[in-house]
Amino acid sequence: MSFDTTHDPELKSWVPGANAADTDFPIQNLPLGVFRLPGQAHGRPGVAIGDQVLDLAAAAHAGALSPEAARALHGCWDANSGATLNPLMARGPAARRALRQSLSHALADGAAAQAVLHGCLHAQGEVEMLLPCQIGDYTDFYTGIHHATAVGKLFRPDNALLPNYKWVPIGYHGRGSSIVASGQALRRPNGQVKGPNDEAPRFAPSQRLDYELELGAFIGGGNALGEPIAMAQAEDHLFGLVLLNDWSARDIQAWEYQPLGPFLAKNFGTSISPWIVTPEALAPFRRPFSRPPEDPQPLPYLDSPANRSQGSLDIALEVWLQTARMRADGQPHVRLMRSNFKDSYWTLAQLITHHASNGCNLSAGDLLGSGTQSGPEAGQGGSLLELSHGGKQPIPLPNGEARTFLQDGDSVELRAACEAPGWRRIGFGRCEGTVLAAPPA
Ligand code: MN
Repeated sequence: MSFDTTHDPELKSWVPGANAADTDFPIQNLPLGVFRLPGQAHGRPGVAIGDQVLDLAAAAHAGALSPEAARALHGCWDANSGATLNPLMARGPAARRALRQSLSHALADGAAAQAVLHGCLHAQGEVEMLLPCQIGDYTDFYTGIHHATAVGKLFRPDNALLPNYKWVPIGYHGRGSSIVASGQALRRPNGQVKGPNDEAPRFAPSQRLDYELELGAFIGGGNALGEPIAMAQAEDHLFGLVLLNDWSARDIQAWEYQPLGPFLAKNFGTSISPWIVTPEALAPFRRPFSRPPEDPQPLPYLDSPANRSQGSLDIALEVWLQTARMRADGQPHVRLMRSNFKDSYWTLAQLITHHASNGCNLSAGDLLGSGTQSGPEAGQGGSLLELSHGGKQPIPLPNGEARTFLQDGDSVELRAACEAPGWRRIGFGRCEGTVLAAPPA
C-alpha cells in the first residue's frame, strides 16, 4: 500500500472543524456522498470535511478542482434528475484517486481555492443525506465467524457452525430496493411467525425485531458476465465502505429460513451510513490476514500474497441505542457493544473474488454486506439475538429499562472509526434508524 501527501497526518485544512482531534472527517478522510439542501428537489454530490459538506458540483463549476477531478465527476449530477456517484464509481480507482488528490490540495491550509470554495460549504447539520448512488444488486455475506457460531448454536444447538463455513464465503442475494440512508425511520414488519409449541403460524407484527452490525462495500468498476475477478485485481473493483444495519425479524427468519435462506425477515429495510469511506482513506489501517493454523487455509483462488500481508482492515465498530423514553428524557444513545472488522473470517478481496468466481458480473453501485461483525468475547455480539442469548437474557439500560429485542421508538445507531498511532483518526459518521409501529396486520 502506498501513501502520499493526502495521508500526511500533519496536513491541516482551512475548514476549522476538520482539524478537531475527534472529528470523523479530517482532511485525510474525504468520504463521498450525496446531500440535499433544504427546499431543493434534488441531491448534489459532496465530500465531508469536518462538520461541513463541500458541494462538488459547485466546486467543479467554480473551477476549483483539477481537470482530472472534474472529469472523474462528469455525469454525477444533473439539474433535472439529481445526483448519483455511479459514473465516478464506474471509472475505477485512478479517477477516484485524482479526485482525492485535488480535494486534498483545495481543502488544505493555505490553498488558493479557499476564497472561492468557502461559498461551496454547507453545515452538515443543515443538509439531508441521501443514498450515495443508485444501488444495483445487494449481496449480504456472513464473514463474522463469532456471529455465525453464536447464531448457529441458537438455531441448531447440535450443529452450530456448518461444515462449509471455513471454505466458502457464505452469502445470499438481498434486496436493493429497500436500502435506505441513515436517518430514515423503518416500520416494524408483519410476517408469518410460529412459536415452537404453536400448531400453525399466524400473520402478525414481528416481536423479535433486531439489528445487525455490518460494513457495506460498494463496487466500483464491474466485470463482464463470464469473466471472473482474480484476487490480484479484486480491490481495483472496490469503491469504498459504509456502515450497514441489516435489520432482521428473528421470528419471521426462524420460520422461513429453511431451505433457501433469509427472505422477508431481512428485505423490509436495510440502513446505510451516507458517506462512502474510500480505500485510500483506509490505507493506514490495513493489517495482515491470517487463519488459525488448525483451520483450513483459503483455496488458491481466494489466496494472494497481498491478501496475506494486508488484506484485513482494523476498523472499530460500535452499536448505540436510544429508547423512546430516553429520547423524551433528553438522554443520548448508550453504547451496547464494540467489535472490530479485523476479526472478520474473510477479507473484502475474497468476497469480491468469490462473488465473481463463477462468472457472475458485478456492477458499479452494487453493495456487498459483510455479515454481522461480532467479536470473540462475551458481550461483543453484533445483534440483540446474541447479546440477549436468543431473547432469554434482557440487556439492562442505564435508566432502568431493558431490551431483549427492539421496541417501537427505539433508535439504533452504528458507528465506526479507524485509529492507529501516527495517523489521523478516520471515522464513518453514523448509521441511524428508528423503529416505527407495524402497519395493521
Ligand atoms: Mn446480515
